[in-house]
Amino acid sequence: MRYKNMLSFMILSALLALPAAAQQGVKPAPPQLTAIKAGKLVDPETGLTAANQIILVENKTIKEIGASVKIPAGAKIVDLSKSTVLPGLFDAHTHLCMSVQPKRDANNYYITTLFDTTAYRAIEGVANGQAMLASGFTTVRDIGNAGNYADTDLRMAIENGVVQGPTVVNSGIIIAPYGGQFHLQPEKKELATPEYLFADTRDEMRKAIRQNIHFGAKFIKIVVDDQQYIYSADDIRFIIAEAHASGLKVAAHCWTHAGARNAAEAGVDSIEHGYRMTDEELQLAKQNNVTLVGTEFTEKMTQASGNLWEHKTWVDRLRRAYKLGVNMAFGTDVDVELPGETRGTLAIDYLSSWAEAGVPAADTLRAMTTNAAKLLGVEKERGSLKPGMAADIIATPENPLDNIQTLRKVSFVMKDGAIIKQ
Ligand SMILES: [Zn+2]
Repeated sequence: MRYKNMLSFMILSALLALPAAAQQGVKPAPPQLTAIKAGKLVDPETGLTAANQIILVENKTIKEIGASVKIPAGAKIVDLSKSTVLPGLFDAHTHLCMSVQPKRDANNYYITTLFDTTAYRAIEGVANGQAMLASGFTTVRDIGNAGNYADTDLRMAIENGVVQGPTVVNSGIIIAPYGGQFHLQPEKKELATPEYLFADTRDEMRKAIRQNIHFGAKFIKIVVDDQQYIYSADDIRFIIAEAHASGLKVAAHCWTHAGARNAAEAGVDSIEHGYRMTDEELQLAKQNNVTLVGTEFTEKMTQASGNLWEHKTWVDRLRRAYKLGVNMAFGTDVDVELPGETRGTLAIDYLSSWAEAGVPAADTLRAMTTNAAKLLGVEKERGSLKPGMAADIIATPENPLDNIQTLRKVSFVMKDGAIIKQ
């Protein structure tokens, strides 16, 4: 480019140096400041409560926290001086883009996938995500069964501010041995598509992982053992190596003893369900740093799912896992529509399973925040309230460390600095 004279060159250079907004005569927006006055502030990691704290939020993040933080002029003040304030909750096992209608679908989500298009499921994902947010869940791991990547579109729509919702860490299409979690008939083989990626050989496993990553997955979900043939410990090691090489972790659905043993032995990042795992299997999981996302079904949910399993068996396994010191993250696996309930109210109801198993409030809260944040790989941004962290903040009438059931009554929700519920 050549300039006719030095003056025009200087004017152009000066203009280019200005921010775009100033060039158009628009002043840049001042930072949005919110000061939250917290009567009590809970740190789930330490299990400690501080009184009369001020949390200063600038735009999407926490700027300062303390008893003597100066509230800048012009800051919006949120008075939660009669409440307990804590980080937003996590559900590490959700299916936001699937809603089984028990009557229509005869409690069988195979039928749900035949009725509902991916587009419809993305819309359900928005509604379910908002319901989760209203119940205090500001981050979820969405663990498959989202049609043709509705979960990726849901995550992106939330990240781009198109809709409000929790932070979503999604796993794309579930990778499984032939048949996935369905029992097909030979003339209708294609009916498991796009719900599952069948992967039986190493080449198929590698390709399935890469397809998921390419289409926006942030976690890899495998089903180890829903068929007569299951993934071996070596298969799972191969899958972990391939996923980890791209920076993704692996969640393994395990229902049987053999499946849980293989996943624990391979050192998968998380075992999902682990229904009826023995103490020995739990020990192996602990030894190999596997997080258990136990999805301990409530009585209501076992009934809604057609009584295919027993609530008391879930509670017993949770009690044993806790006693053995297995690292655990809270996860629900709610995927049904029930009258009078939302995805959020059904999910928070899993607190009853944790209470029945005798897990102390502080440990339950850790499973719902810091432990889950580490598993999801977002612990540097979410899961605790510190300067620099995302402003994902909730409030409850009582201190959950004294009464964990108060989490059913979340009265305030802030997501990335925006007030969702007050
Ligand atoms: Zn599930």
